[in-house]
Amino acid sequence: MSEKFRAHHILCTSLYEGKGYSNKFCDNMGKVVDRLRSHPDEAFQIVAEPDLICANCPNQTKDKTCSQNVNRVVDKDRRVIERIGLKENGTYTYRELCRLASGKITYEVYLEFCQKCPWREAGLCKYEDLKRNLSAIASSC
Ligand code: SF4
Repeated sequence: MSEKFRAHHILCTSLYEGKGYSNKFCDNMGKVVDRLRSHPDEAFQIVAEPDLICANCPNQTKDKTCSQNVNRVVDKDRRVIERIGLKENGTYTYRELCRLASGKITYEVYLEFCQKCPWREAGLCKYEDLKRNLSAIASSC
């Protein structure tokens, strides 16, 4: 069985530049992002629940939910799945996810998912970088 990968992390992993909630979180996120970028044909199960990145997040509770309003995050995952045309719990390579996202994420869709996120508000996660990175990962060999 492939590891779980929550849908909105398609955007976050393509834009990650080393900043995050805590050193422990960043250490894990950096390792996951390096793995995804160096092995884009690895397959993952796309989900709307905690995944390999959430494992070291300080917002994850003991019962594996998100202390930052789990329904909002789960809802964001489900909307990403719908917008990109994925199947919840389906299996996709990271490259496929980036290719599909690259074709579907317009500026309006980006704002729908990222507008209220503190990382965008902090000046990270720009739309132009998202489009460039998704298409670079989709076409890398
Ligand atoms: S703004 Fe937030 S949700 Fe959007 S890609 Fe960045 S970290 Fe992820």
